[in-house]
Amino acid sequence: MSSSKKSSKVSGFYKMPVEKRIEFVKEFSDLAEEDVNIISSSLDIETADRMVENVLGKFELPLGLAVNFVINGKDYIIPMVTEESSVIAAASNAAKIARIKGGFTTECSSPLMIGQLQLLHIDDVAGAAQKIMNHKKEILQVANDQDKILVDLGGGAKDLEVRILDSPMGKMIITHLIVDVRDAMGANAVNTMCEALAPILEEITGGKIRLKILSNLADKRLVKAKAVFDKEKMGGEKAVDAFLESYTLASIDPYRAATHNKGIMNGIDSLIIATGNDFRAVEAGAHAYAARNGQYTSLTSYSKNENGDLVGEIELPLAIGIVGGAGNIHPKAKVCKKVLGIKTAQELSEVVASLGLAQNFAAVFALSTVGIQKGHMSLHAKNIAVMAGAKNHEIDKVAEQMIKEGKIKLDRAKEILAEIR
Ligand code: NAD
Repeated sequence: MSSSKKSSKVSGFYKMPVEKRIEFVKEFSDLAEEDVNIISSSLDIETADRMVENVLGKFELPLGLAVNFVINGKDYIIPMVTEESSVIAAASNAAKIARIKGGFTTECSSPLMIGQLQLLHIDDVAGAAQKIMNHKKEILQVANDQDKILVDLGGGAKDLEVRILDSPMGKMIITHLIVDVRDAMGANAVNTMCEALAPILEEITGGKIRLKILSNLADKRLVKAKAVFDKEKMGGEKAVDAFLESYTLASIDPYRAATHNKGIMNGIDSLIIATGNDFRAVEAGAHAYAARNGQYTSLTSYSKNENGDLVGEIELPLAIGIVGGAGNIHPKAKVCKKVLGIKTAQELSEVVASLGLAQNFAAVFALSTVGIQKGHMSLHAKNIAVMAGAKNHEIDKVAEQMIKEGKIKLDRAKEILAEIR
């Protein structure tokens, strides 16, 4: 049975022992025994040593699984790498509510990245900009000569745009090379093209090229996700109104929007890391896009439909791939892509955007009702118990007692530990 026929809806997933959870993933995503071994083992030091410089060892983070997701009618289970408690549980809960009304639906643009070439020391910038556009065909050809694989796949350099910017260092011509990077994140592909074009643009214009690199504001590679959250499940129309009041602050105030968007990135980054993608690139693009109209604002928007249910939407640029980069090298990233069952970078983007929306819904919903500390601190209590020195069965005992008392503090954890010992 293909994973699209299997249900990602699981109750009490968090109560299962790790082995049972792995069994579930293996069955859902048709994983081989070797994949399961990779999930359970550590990155080998030789691979780590090839990935970055001056390697000393490995730094590990928890890999968990969000369940209950339906996206464009297909069930997904989502691997998430994060150090923050509550994030995975919150995403799974939001997905459970979203699936009542059919789950998430998405839209995705073509995978177009922008490469920038900065030209300086030109007197007639308008004339030079025109000359660049007159040579468009030849420029695109040279760019495409750099990446035959991409061109054969239907991608490659597609267009040119020229901008003239005034600066304290004089006028500059910024040429944007628009590249369809197919299933790659595309940074190396675009940078290689830009570097090859530098001498050609200098020759055409008589100017001097300084920067030649992609832009992380990938605003031609946008993804949207939408979901309807059932009002009854939220606790009635008053809860929907409370949600909208809370969300509205993020739409008008950058101080709130920064925290609101951080909550979105809790979900997004954890899947970006799990698939070996570049989370700094995604973060940079998301926040620059959130400020595109001059004021930093929310990446999500919410409204109420005619039925009184909450409608949530997210739109952001996502420069991520399923080929190339660290995702091709890190064994766990390869298995995480299998777990997702995604076939294209666009499909991965659609899952990422849906997860971001789910994460944001969960956070604002909690904030607009009981606050996030209740859920957060309950999970956090176990960490505090460990910090106090609790071992094995003591951890749950100490955590439960602190939750019961409503006092989740290190000094109290130490006292309880002493009492039970
Ligand atoms: P890459 O060069 O490893 O792989 C992309 C290449 O794979 C393509 O150019 C193409 O030749 C080939 N390919 C094979 N099958 C393909 C398919 N189906 N679709 C598309 N291409 C296919 O990686 P990349 O995606 O060009 O670059 C990503 C890496 O660049 C990341 O590791 C990122 O961290 C890094 N990086 C980022 C920045 C930045 O964000 N500012 C700057 C420099 C480097």
